[in-house]
Amino acid sequence: MKVIKLPCDMQAGLGSVGLVPTMGALHEGHLSLIREARKQCDQVVVSILVNPLQFAPHEDYNAYPRTLDSDLAQCEALGVDVVFCPDASAIYPENFQTRVMGGELTKQYCGITRPTFFNGVLTVVAILFGIVRPGKAFFGEKDFQQLFLIKQMVKDFWMPIEIIGMPIIREESGLALSSRNTYLTGGQKEEATCLFQAILAVQEAVKTGERDVQALLAQARSKISLELDYLDLVSVKTLECLTDSLEEPARLLMAAYIGENPKVRLIDNGNVF
Ligand code: AMP
Repeated sequence: MKVIKLPCDMQAGLGSVGLVPTMGALHEGHLSLIREARKQCDQVVVSILVNPLQFAPHEDYNAYPRTLDSDLAQCEALGVDVVFCPDASAIYPENFQTRVMGGELTKQYCGITRPTFFNGVLTVVAILFGIVRPGKAFFGEKDFQQLFLIKQMVKDFWMPIEIIGMPIIREESGLALSSRNTYLTGGQKEEATCLFQAILAVQEAVKTGERDVQALLAQARSKISLELDYLDLVSVKTLECLTDSLEEPARLLMAAYIGENPKVRLIDNGNVF
C-alpha cells in the first residue's frame, strides 16, 4: 500500500489528452498550438468559446469574430480529435456561482484597463480543465501575462495539468497574429508593425550594452506611433515590473490602441534579454 503525504506525489499519471483552449476565429497562431498538441498527445481537444466572463460591458463581446465553419474545417485538417464548442449558456447556466480570483498580478499590465479580464480567463480555463481533464494544455506566449497567471493557478490549485507555452506566430511584417487583426485595414496592419519594431529596437539596444530600463523604454516608445495603453519591461521569472536596471531574463510587454471606430486594442511582447 502506498501512503502519500505530499500533494505532488498524488500528481502521478498525467493523462494524454492535450487541450487547446481558444475563442475561435482560428489563425496560424492557434494552429501552431494544435500542431504541437498533436505531436505531444494521443488525443487533441480544441475548445472554441467566446467567453463572456472575460469581456467588460463596453468591450467587443458581440462583435468578436465568429467563424465556426472554417474553424471546424481547419481543426479537421490538422487531425484534431474533438472540438468542444459549447454555447456560453451551457458553461454559465443560471445557477452558476463560482469564480476564480487571481492574485495582484491580475491588476497589472493588461489588468489596469481590463480589471475583470484575467479572473474571467482563469475561471473559464478552470472550467474547461474540469470538463476536458487534459494532461497537457497549450497556450501562446502572445498572451504572456495570461500564460503566467494560468501557470500560477495550476500550481496554486495543484491541478494535474502540464502547461505548455508556445512562441508568438507573426506575419512576415512582424505583426503578431490575432483574431482581432480582422478589425484592421491594410494600412492599420502596416502601422501596427511598430509594436514589433519596438521589440527589435530594445533587443538591439540591449545587445550593444544598454541596461538602463528607462532608456530602453524610451527607445521602444520612439518606435511606437500608436496610443499606448502600457509599455513595461518585466522579469520573466516573476513578471515584476523592472524600473532601474535590466535583469535577465527580461521581456518587453505592451498594449496599444489603433483606429477610432472600432478602437482596437493590440498586445505584443518579446524577450529582450
Ligand atoms: P484566443 O483565441 O485569442 O483566446 O487565443 C487562444 C490561444 O492562442 C491563446 O493561448 C493565445 O495565446 C494563442 N495565440 C493567439 N495568437 C497567437 C499567436 N500569434 N501566436 C501564438 N499563439 C497565439
